[in-house]
Amino acid sequence: GLDITWAVDWVRRSAESMSEHRVELINLDREIGDGDHGENMDRGFQAVLPKLDDLPAGSTPSDVLKLLATTLISTVGGAAGPLYGTAYLKASGAVGGEVSLDAEAVVRMLEAARDGIVLRGKAELGDKTMVDAWSPAVEAARGAAESGATAATTLQAAADAAAEGAVATEPLVARKGRASYLGERSAGHRDPGAQSTAYLLAAGAAAAS
Ligand code: ADP
Ligand code: MG
Ligand code: MG
Repeated sequence: GLDITWAVDWVRRSAESMSEHRVELINLDREIGDGDHGENMDRGFQAVLPKLDDLPAGSTPSDVLKLLATTLISTVGGAAGPLYGTAYLKASGAVGGEVSLDAEAVVRMLEAARDGIVLRGKAELGDKTMVDAWSPAVEAARGAAESGATAATTLQAAADAAAEGAVATEPLVARKGRASYLGERSAGHRDPGAQSTAYLLAAGAAAAS
């Protein structure tokens, strides 16, 4: 199962990925938003890194997700800060007290994250938001877990589906967030939040393998 070492490594790899893809996410957001998504995400994940060293002994994956959530809420800003903050907070709650996450727990964690984003942002599937990466990720994870996949393979299935979901936002017209101000002109560009979601889940899968 996926334990505290995995959770801490997930956050470290996420920070690495947000820093590596900072400019790319900025450029995606420049096309259909205000161009700050890469900067927002990089700032938030850099802010959590020093806090990882202060986690008390006996901390669980849930504690790491909660620390990440509160840090993102206070440092990321924009639309993505509260949305990712809610996602990780709900994910933390869904696996509370568990020392090691099995495939079923991974599904529960991802589903809680997605539901938190939907509750907070009210976006539906196809609105060209991060939900278009999260929802296929949840479905793929559930399918993998139901066919007996390990926690790591379940998370990899989620990451692959999120990456496909991000690509699939390209032809869509945005109906939520800043991109929706562009109307039809938002079509033909990938949603930055869907792309950052794909990178974050890929980081989780890499940490698990
Ligand atoms: P801002 O648009 O405030 O500058 P960011 O650029 O950090 O915030 O984040 C933009 C991303 O947030 C979008 O690409 C989209 O994926 C996501 N987003 C915006 N509004 C919503 C919403 N209502 N529901 C889900 N995701 C949303
Ligand atoms: Mg922006
Ligand atoms: Mg902004």
